[in-house]
Amino acid sequence: MPERQTEVCRTGFMNHLTTETFDANARAALADVQLRGALRKATTLFGKHRLAATRGLENWEELRTQARAIKDEVLLHLDQYLAQFAGNAEKRGAQVHWARDAAEANQIVCRLARERNARKVVKSKSMVTEEIHLNDALQAEGIEAIETDLGEYIIQLAGETPSHIIAPAIHKTKKQIAELFTAKLGIEPTDDVAQLTSAARRVLRRRFAAADIGISGVNFGVAETGTILILENEGNIRLTTSLPKTHIALMGIEKILPRFADLDVFLKLLPRSGTGQQLTTYQSLITGTKQKPEDEGPEELHIVLLDNGRSRMLAHPVTRQSLACIRCGACLNACPVYQQIGGHAYGSVYAGPIGAVITPQLIGLGKAAQLPYASSLCGACREVCPVKIDIPELLLYLRAEITEGGRQEAGGRSSRQAVKQHISERLAFKIWAAVMARPRLYEWSARFGRGLQRFIVRDGTIGKVGALLTRLAPPLGAWTSARDLRPLATRTFREQWRGELANQNREVKS
Ligand code: SF4
Repeated sequence: MPERQTEVCRTGFMNHLTTETFDANARAALADVQLRGALRKATTLFGKHRLAATRGLENWEELRTQARAIKDEVLLHLDQYLAQFAGNAEKRGAQVHWARDAAEANQIVCRLARERNARKVVKSKSMVTEEIHLNDALQAEGIEAIETDLGEYIIQLAGETPSHIIAPAIHKTKKQIAELFTAKLGIEPTDDVAQLTSAARRVLRRRFAAADIGISGVNFGVAETGTILILENEGNIRLTTSLPKTHIALMGIEKILPRFADLDVFLKLLPRSGTGQQLTTYQSLITGTKQKPEDEGPEELHIVLLDNGRSRMLAHPVTRQSLACIRCGACLNACPVYQQIGGHAYGSVYAGPIGAVITPQLIGLGKAAQLPYASSLCGACREVCPVKIDIPELLLYLRAEITEGGRQEAGGRSSRQAVKQHISERLAFKIWAAVMARPRLYEWSARFGRGLQRFIVRDGTIGKVGALLTRLAPPLGAWTSARDLRPLATRTFREQWRGELANQNREVKS
């Protein structure tokens, strides 16, 4: 997967974002007040809805454990389940294609389109097609690809890339979308959501009717039956997969479930974790092609199974768990880093905590060495993950890989920066641990720090000059560039405690 170059012209906070410029991207995002407002509102709402939905299910924890066990079983025997899935899908009329990487997947889709003289395709939201940059490949063939999910359609009109797995246009405010529709669709300016959606619907309905091919992603593939399941709320997937004569479904090889009955577990987890719904409005279960003229569905179904680095993740028990991800987006909404900077800063189609572990494994640590450090390791992602992926463990594993140079690509500037940052962090924590382990030294340091801060503290807060100084002073500047420095307490807890004991003793004596 080549790293992505993105232009975010509307908000103007970033240009040419790549995985290698994460630090700069993040700084630019932090300075964008509008972006942060939109993110705060959306992620808070998603978080609240998720919590309400999960509390309504008594056996939530049990389901999470069950889901993880199913995923672990699949990943241990992935070759067998994939062969079973392909065999059963082909028995029902589907054609299965195997793609080792993004280039091969794009070639397969473009060849299928060429063979059918296709000029127009409709696409439903699919992270895998974003991962392989399928739209660019189709465009190079002179084929027009139209996104039909409303969020994806908005960002396609804006010339951007998705910034969230579930809500691609999460970074946009209603006002920005209204202005975009006026500029691109020529509608009267309005901020009425119903009018905006109906303007998009009018355009998209015509596109569905004219499309030669429908392209979709896949949420789950069932080995037992060869069925694919795609979830949605807008009805656009139903139309994409049933109106055009040919349907091409792109699916990462990790999306397999062994049995049809396993869907019961994942259908309870995914909508609740993603949008806080008990179930999405539509669930399209597609098993092969239509058999009789009166049946619904495509005459041709092609399923492209994509590896693109996933086999590498399978090889190690720690990295293997990355493939259990069901792309619900809950970890993004819960992540304090994502909440502040949004998805574009990651420079990759996969953002947030799961993006910080998947992207470096897909494109190589050398090209994405800053991403595993884009975390405070607070563990919020692990808490919310419906399949119990231990993302902090993965982040630490990847950091260790970077510093030890296990898979580091030689000479990468970003890798060197990450190593430098890691070394200075380790040194800082070593000093911190040494001070904390020696009570006298700790007290002396606190007194020394309080003495020093007299020059920069005014009325109990760090004054403007002080803030500027701390921002400039390396390595403290790296911390204070995005955070406010608080002054040290005038008395430490230990001093207060000693004072309290002295008072009590005095009271006892008197
Ligand atoms: S890692 Fe877990 S929480 Fe994050 S998107 Fe994947 S399944 Fe959802």
